[in-house]
Amino acid sequence: KPVLVAEIEFANWTDDGLVRQAAFKGLREDKPAEEVEAELPAPAATPVAEPQAAPLRARGQGVVMDVKISHPDKALWPDDGAGKPITKLELAEYYAAMADRIMPHIIGRPCSIIRAPDGITGENFFQRHALPGMSHLLTTVTVSGDRKPYLQIDRPEGLIAVAQVAGVELHPWNCAPNRPDMPGRLVFDLDPAPDLAFTAVVAAAIEMRERLEALGLMSFCKTTGGKGLHVVVPLEVPRSGGPDWDAAKAFARRICEVMAKDSPERYLINMAKKERDGRIFLDYLRNDRMSTAVAPLSPRGRPGATVSMPLIWSQVRTGLDPKRFTMRTVPALYGKGDPWQDYDKVVQKLAPAIKKLGVARS
Ligand code: ATP
Ligand code: MN
Repeated sequence: KPVLVAEIEFANWTDDGLVRQAAFKGLREDKPAEEVEAELPAPAATPVAEPQAAPLRARGQGVVMDVKISHPDKALWPDDGAGKPITKLELAEYYAAMADRIMPHIIGRPCSIIRAPDGITGENFFQRHALPGMSHLLTTVTVSGDRKPYLQIDRPEGLIAVAQVAGVELHPWNCAPNRPDMPGRLVFDLDPAPDLAFTAVVAAAIEMRERLEALGLMSFCKTTGGKGLHVVVPLEVPRSGGPDWDAAKAFARRICEVMAKDSPERYLINMAKKERDGRIFLDYLRNDRMSTAVAPLSPRGRPGATVSMPLIWSQVRTGLDPKRFTMRTVPALYGKGDPWQDYDKVVQKLAPAIKKLGVARS
């Protein structure tokens, strides 16, 4: 029985008719309770005069890049790092904002996605394969060694289709675009033992960079959005007869092996060894035909909505805090320029570096 009237400020209605982010503003003694009615959204005016295609939002639906998002208000991350949830619509908007930067790293390569339909605290799925009924905005690709087609994202709208199925992380192959059998980049995954200070990971990345440079290879660093760092080596589009994945993996393994041998107290390459006791696992295993690594600028389905953030090497120093790079902060940071703006300009062959290191083809 309505008796008192309160004024509540709120963001929007949920699908269930509850108010979201409600704040109590005070009692309204000037208004009798009987006068209060539920307000219903009026039908949207025909958007003829709209200057820009502002997202049309009917109740319970959102549109990003002309792709419909169902349950747009579904919270996928409970906390964006500042106490607010990140919704499915906001995931789509993040992908749309960063699409130009993400696409070059995933286009033409099979791309697994991590889906979190009930949000990141619910059950997650690592999905490699295309599924029946999948959006036509996504590509399917058949690769040797698996009869089932793989998922691939070849256009920006595909990212929105991924958001629509609550795809919170992008994990592409490291092949060359449209050459699923050929290495397109190397990824060195630096995995610190729990509780190891992050400066140790920073030091490892810098050492890795120097070792690669000595072999004539330029590298790029990014946060993972998790505990470690990735050092990425772009490779020239391979010609036939160039190093294959076996050769590339042997090369990556050898670099990590030597680094671990030189500082056994800091690094190890044996994954089987559970006890990392304060050391960093140099994971060269991302460098294989079907191995994946999280894409640059992919969000992570982890607390704080962190992002795998490309860095310039001068940022890779003591004080670097990967938690700063979130879905909320990263689009604005890109307004200041692309830390990997030279990535596409680097043209380098793996073969001479292999020769220099003296790795025999395994
Ligand atoms: P961190 O810095 O926290 O180690 P990361 O991205 O390097 O972040 P993980 O999320 O542990 O580490 O992933 C390790 C690798 O395994 C990633 O490159 C990813 O592509 C792959 N991966 C993740 N989840 C799965 C899964 N369920 N099945 C197969 N591969 C996966
Ligand atoms: Mn890792």
